[in-house]
Amino acid sequence: MTDKPLILVLGDQLSPHLSSLAAAPEAPILMAELAEEASYVRHHRQKIALIFSAMRHFAETLKDQGRAVTYLKYGETGGVDSFADALRLLIKRDGITRLLVTEPGEWRLMQEMQNWAESLAIAVEIVPDTRFLATHAEFETWAEGKKQLRMEFFYREMRRKTGLLMDGDEPLGGQWNYDADNRKKLPKDHAPPPRLHFAPDAVTEDVLALVARHFGNHVGRLDNFAWPVTAAQAEQQFAHWLDFCLPHFGDYQDAMKTGEAFVYHGLVGASINIGLLDPLKVCQAVEARYHSGQAPLNAVEGFIRQILGWREFIRSLYWLKMPDYADSNFFDHDRALPDFYYSGETDMACMREAIGATVTHAYAHHIQRLMVTGNFALLAGIAPAAVNRWYLEVYADAFEWVQLPNTHGMALFADGGLVGSKPYAASGAYINRMSDHCSSCTYNVKQAHGDTACPFNYLYWDFMIRHRDKLGGNPRMGMVYRNLDKMDDAKRDGVIASAKEFLQKL
Ligand SMILES: Cc1cc2nc3c(=O)[nH]c(=O)nc-3n(C[C@H](O)[C@H](O)[C@H](O)COP(=O)(O)OP(=O)(O)OC[C@H]3O[C@@H](n4cnc5c(N)ncnc54)[C@H](O)[C@@H]3O)c2cc1C
Ligand code: SF4
Repeated sequence: MTDKPLILVLGDQLSPHLSSLAAAPEAPILMAELAEEASYVRHHRQKIALIFSAMRHFAETLKDQGRAVTYLKYGETGGVDSFADALRLLIKRDGITRLLVTEPGEWRLMQEMQNWAESLAIAVEIVPDTRFLATHAEFETWAEGKKQLRMEFFYREMRRKTGLLMDGDEPLGGQWNYDADNRKKLPKDHAPPPRLHFAPDAVTEDVLALVARHFGNHVGRLDNFAWPVTAAQAEQQFAHWLDFCLPHFGDYQDAMKTGEAFVYHGLVGASINIGLLDPLKVCQAVEARYHSGQAPLNAVEGFIRQILGWREFIRSLYWLKMPDYADSNFFDHDRALPDFYYSGETDMACMREAIGATVTHAYAHHIQRLMVTGNFALLAGIAPAAVNRWYLEVYADAFEWVQLPNTHGMALFADGGLVGSKPYAASGAYINRMSDHCSSCTYNVKQAHGDTACPFNYLYWDFMIRHRDKLGGNPRMGMVYRNLDKMDDAKRDGVIASAKEFLQKL
């Protein structure tokens, strides 16, 4: 019997200043690689390898600091498949009576934890996750009484709270948001700097072999694993990005280019989400580059907004709206997810590129997720639950608190307008404007309907026609429906017929 609590550290809580670790510096720690967590959806194999390897490295760091860590490796302890199994084992072995844990990122796990006191007959203390910059209570207060919750206004509150990019009470440079400057296409011969590769060490090699052995039916390549698995590596990658990419991040934030999976994006999402990088420190380092004259304000503000604004807003909204949030289906979409979401085998060059990057790297950048794979799923009427599951599976940075509102709300508008004020639906013209994909595509982006027309073109108009009753009254959709009303009958009939034929084959 011990009077010290046991601290349970989850796979996305690999931060030295985690609230549970700080609250009980002498307490023993439990970490476990669990079948239930690795397989409740079929996570990309690189994602499982990243988390297990980062967990093993973090456990060693904790031991080096003198902490007592029980680490259960995948499949090595009979009968331990879930957190409850692992806890039962330690309760029996060490006479544990109290558990201390930092709140999880997922509703599913929070429900489970709240039952442990009863099901495991121990005292359970769940402490707030202080790595986030907004507390649940702050967001609830901000949201109270508002008809619409808009990221932009919440973001301004967060700028004021943190002092990031502020000049007294005013935004630095006089504007809160420089998004209008951030929509350039990559010039033809312009090659962004390559990503840093972290060659697997012995720990990662072991994990890669384990994942190959046990997760053969999950999506993804393993031979090119390059993710940072320690805080030091994540910082090295971030420093490389600050030097070589940040100055162009704003300009090319929305750009897509064949063969360039990462463009100027930070590649920090996975590291921040599992705890290897601290979001506030990341934002402060980016702000410092502006003050030292090494990066322009549109790049710095654009990047900080993603973390301080979007990341915090999305997480807060998730906790405010769960569990019902995931059940909404504004358009009543119910089509199955096409198989090519796992293989990339499609004649649509933009989809092939986005899905190819996803399978190869467990990564696609924001515009590919939103305006290519997400846009297609929206226009084609794929069931939100199937799309949500795919996004949760395939990205190294995917955890439900951040994946769900982005997919369900931002990309699919399945929440009817909680995350965004209108659907991010777009025809092929948008993809053509922001990428070089259309020039090498089987389909013709300039053609509205017919066998060789770009599917995004006729699916876009068919979607608008199908959902006029739900979208026609949205003030931000006025222009779209005015254009639809100007469309001649032959084009309208052609669009509907092409969409019908394409969707039947899907
Ligand atoms: C359909 C869809 C699904 C998504 N699923 C996830 C997910 O599972 N996990 C995830 O972390 N992000 C998700 N995002 C948000 C965003 O696409 C990723 O954070 C980003 O692509 C990660 O790559 P990066 O680190 O290179 O990001 P950068 O483009 O360099 O951006 C920097 C950081 O800003 C934050 N950020 C940017 N946009 C968002 C956003 N919309 N919501 C929350 N944080 C944001 C992330 O921490 C990101 O690492 C999703 C977006 C869409 C449209
Ligand atoms: S033509 Fe259409 S399907 Fe082909 S790359 Fe362009 S937008 Fe994608």
